[in-house]
Amino acid sequence: MKKDKLAAVRGMNDLLPADAPLWEAFEARAIDVLRAYGYQQIRTPIVEHTALFTRGIGEVTDIVEKEMYSFVDQLNGENLTLRPEATASVVRACIEHSLLYDAPRRLWYMGPMFRHERPQRGRYRQFHQVGAEALGFPGPDVDAEQILLLARLWDVLEIGPVRLELNSLGNGEERARHRAALIAHFESHADLLDADARRRLHTNPLRILDTKNPAMQSLAAQAPRITDYLGADSRAHFARLQELLAARGVEFSINPRLVRGLDYYNLTVYEWITDRLGAQGTICGGGRYDPLIEMLGGRPAPACGFAIGVERVIELLRETGQQVGQAACDVYVLHQGGATFLAALSAAERLRDAGLEVILHAGEGGLKSQMKRADASGAQYAVIVGEAEAAQGAAMVKALRAADAAVPFAQQRAVTLAELGDTLAAALAAGSTLDNEPISGKD
Ligand code: ATP
Ligand code: MG
Repeated sequence: MKKDKLAAVRGMNDLLPADAPLWEAFEARAIDVLRAYGYQQIRTPIVEHTALFTRGIGEVTDIVEKEMYSFVDQLNGENLTLRPEATASVVRACIEHSLLYDAPRRLWYMGPMFRHERPQRGRYRQFHQVGAEALGFPGPDVDAEQILLLARLWDVLEIGPVRLELNSLGNGEERARHRAALIAHFESHADLLDADARRRLHTNPLRILDTKNPAMQSLAAQAPRITDYLGADSRAHFARLQELLAARGVEFSINPRLVRGLDYYNLTVYEWITDRLGAQGTICGGGRYDPLIEMLGGRPAPACGFAIGVERVIELLRETGQQVGQAACDVYVLHQGGATFLAALSAAERLRDAGLEVILHAGEGGLKSQMKRADASGAQYAVIVGEAEAAQGAAMVKALRAADAAVPFAQQRAVTLAELGDTLAAALAAGSTLDNEPISGKD
């Protein structure tokens, strides 16, 4: 009976070995840059109580309204959600473990997020974010520092121009006054509002500014600007941020319509955007969320953070033609089964003791077909433990990439098992030419 083929869930991607080096290179560089700014890693669970996100993100947001993977645990009736973002989780963990008790924290995270969106280029249902949160800092110094961190990361990654857009959302009172003006503006043009906008008019009118509906663009463009409603403190915060960025030569533009998808943002908001990814050009979003820690039950503390969309950055790395070589192993070990397998096993372990990456041939196969596998593996050397060699406590070493200048010896030569690790480690490390001395002893 033919079984149905199983496939991955729509919008959720496998990361195949051919792409893994690119991801690993991105992650390694991102971690280096985060560490250079004193950020420490935090890992939180992928599943949280649904209430964390409804409270922490806001009921009237795209995420909570229609994008969350929420379910009831059949075994105990708990309402759970696959995390759609990690800020709420990080704040939850900090409160739960009193991490902010005596000092502020700079934290980073990396991992999968889940949102039930329509899958398309740059938009998936499982996607990955690298993010950072500076908790307990009022800014705007850390706001500027995070932006410098990101500018440095784009630089290190060599992904070409990425544009920075900035805005300030002010504080709660300022937003309330702006909100009233927004509602009045949109109400006076009620006939032009689409269904989304009508629904949000009295719950989250700020989000109407963010509309992707072309028919609503001019209405949104004419709307009252939050920047005109900022008080002296908010204006000073925003001005100082701009001053710091200008002093460090970071270019930006102010986009008065820039809001964030999440309710808890205040003051600084920003996005990094590229024109080379089509509609999904925002590779990073960030800003302040001073009210969130208290909203989630912690002692009030200001905070600022960002999240990078990893898939989009990887796509940019590909666009700019960056190749990251498939890491090949150093040595492929061949054998003739039986007693030679045990000798080969010990040879492979010695090579690994010496720090080499080794594939030991598994299963059956003649030496000729094993040699084909060895070649295909990309290894620099084949180590052949045939019956004759095993009887002498030795192995035959054959350079597989003689044309490659990095391979120090092209000849085939016998090496005792005792010397194998050091000999090949030295050859691979130094790329130096080995003298072809005869086997000096037996293992
Ligand atoms: P959008 O307006 O594109 O939906 P958002 O405001 O929902 O974005 P954030 O919650 O700020 O996005 O997430 C930060 C970053 O994570 C985004 O700038 C983007 O790069 C990435 N991202 C968000 N949602 C997805 C997704 N479904 N697939 C891939 N990347 C995503
Ligand atoms: Mg979204």
